[in-house]
Amino acid sequence: MSSSIKPRVVLKFGGSSVSSLDKWETIAGLVGDRLTKGERLLIVHSALKGVTDNLELLPVEAAAGRHAPLLEELIARHLDLCEEMGLDGRSLLEADFEKLSLAVEGIALVQEVNPRIRARILAFGEHLSTRIGAAFLASRELPVKWLDARDLLAAVDTGRQSGSAVWLSAECEAELDTEVRDRLDALPGPGLTQGFTARGLDGDTVVLGRGGSDTAAAYLAGKWGADRIEIWSDVSGMFTADPRVVPTARLLRRLDYREAQEIATTGSQVLHPRAVRALRDREIPIHLRSTVDPSAPGTVIEATGTEGPAQVKAISRKRKVVLVSMETLGMWQEVGFLARAFRVFEEAGVSVDLVSTSETNVTVSLDSGAALLDDEILGKLHENLSSFCGVQFIRPCAAVSLVGNRIRALLHRMGPALEAFEEHRVHLVSQAASDLNLTVVVDEAQADDLLRALHELLIPAAGLAGEADSEVFGASWEALAGSAAMASSSGDAG
Ligand code: ASP
Ligand code: MG
Repeated sequence: MSSSIKPRVVLKFGGSSVSSLDKWETIAGLVGDRLTKGERLLIVHSALKGVTDNLELLPVEAAAGRHAPLLEELIARHLDLCEEMGLDGRSLLEADFEKLSLAVEGIALVQEVNPRIRARILAFGEHLSTRIGAAFLASRELPVKWLDARDLLAAVDTGRQSGSAVWLSAECEAELDTEVRDRLDALPGPGLTQGFTARGLDGDTVVLGRGGSDTAAAYLAGKWGADRIEIWSDVSGMFTADPRVVPTARLLRRLDYREAQEIATTGSQVLHPRAVRALRDREIPIHLRSTVDPSAPGTVIEATGTEGPAQVKAISRKRKVVLVSMETLGMWQEVGFLARAFRVFEEAGVSVDLVSTSETNVTVSLDSGAALLDDEILGKLHENLSSFCGVQFIRPCAAVSLVGNRIRALLHRMGPALEAFEEHRVHLVSQAASDLNLTVVVDEAQADDLLRALHELLIPAAGLAGEADSEVFGASWEALAGSAAMASSSGDAG
C-alpha cells in the first residue's frame, strides 16, 4: 500500500483506559493490529483516571500549605503504574515531578493561585500519563513517538472566552493544518500525544475544559486531515438512555452528527459535545469503542446523508438544573423585558439553557453542573432580578430530553407517552427549533422514573420481531453486560 493512501486514524483513550497494565495490553494489541492493516496512527490520551481531579485540588491545597500528602500520592500513583508495567518510573518521570513540585511550592510560597498556573498544573496529568504510555508501547516494540501537544495545537481567540476560561477552557481550530499534517505524516510510526492541553495565545500552557481530551483529539483529527477518529472509553458507545438507570437501554449503532451532539449536550458523558462540533464541520467519522470489550462494534457517528425517519433515538437526563421563574404583570405588551432579564444573566456570567415564556412569566433553566453555580452567584441573580420582577428558584430539577431527528413529526404519536407525565409535575417544556429535541424539566427526584417510563414507551425493546437487525438500535446494555464486564457511563475523563 503506498503511503499516500494509508488511512489516517486518531485513537483517543480516556482515563480509565490508560490506568492499568491490562488496558495498556489491550491498547498495544490494538495499535499492533492497526499498523499491520496499514493505518497511520495518532494516539491521544487522557491523564490516569482521577488525576485531573487531584490536580485541580493541588493548587488549592498548596495555597493553604497543605499540598505535601496530595503531591506524594500523585507521584506514588504514577510510579506504581510504571512498576506494574515494568518501567523505570523514576528515570522516566523524575524531571516532570520536579517541575510539578516547583510549581506547587511556588503557590505555597505566595499563597495565591491564578488560572495560568492552574492550567500549567492541570496539564501535568496528561504529560505524565503520555510519558508512561509511550514508554510502554516502545517496550512492546511499537515505535511510537512522544509529541508535545503544545507544538501541535494552538489556542485561538474566539472572543467567547474571558477571565479564567482563556487558560482553563481554551478553544482551537479543527481546520486542516498542512504543517501539522506534514509533520505527522513524516513520522516513521505512530505519534502519541496529550489530550486536554494546548499552547495558549501567549505561548503558555492552556487546557480545554474538563473532559477536554476528546476535544483535543478532535482538533488534531481535523488538523491532520484524519479519515476517522476512534474514541475509546470504558463504555461501548452511546445508549438510548443512561444504562445505570435503564438497564434495557440499547446501544445506538449509528447516528448523525447532529443527533450525537444533541445526545452529548443533553447529558450523555461518553463524548464531549465540543468534540462533535469540531468533527462534524470536517465530516470526520467518529467511532465510539470500549477497551473493556474491544471487539464490540460500538457507535458510529457520521454524515448519514438523509435525516431518516422521525424516531426518538435517546432519552437523556441532565441533573443539577436550576430553574429561574420570573413573574411580572408588566411584561404584557411591554418592550424589552427579556433583554433586561437576560442582561442580568450575562452580567453574572451565567449561561441560560432553556427558555419558556408566557404573557406573565418567563422561566429559564441554568445548568449548575457545568457552570459551577454557587449560592453566591444565585443570590446575586436573585437580587438583581428582584428589582423588576418576582423571582423564584426551583431546584434541584432535572431536564429530561427526547432526542432524535424530526421530533415534531412524532408529537401526534406521543399520546401514551404523555401519560407518563400524569404523576410528574412539569416545570418547563421546550421544543428546540432544530427539531432534534423535546425537553421537559421536572423535580430531580422524579427524573429517573420518568426516564424509565418514557424509554419503555418510545424506544423499541431489543429482541422484538424485526428489531434484531435494526440499523440504529443495537443490543441492550444488559445483554452487553452479560458478554463483558461493562463499567460505568459516568464519563471517562482523566
Ligand atoms: N484529564 C482531563 C479531565 O479529566 C481531560 C480528559 O480526560 O478528557 O478533565
Ligand atoms: Mg470524556
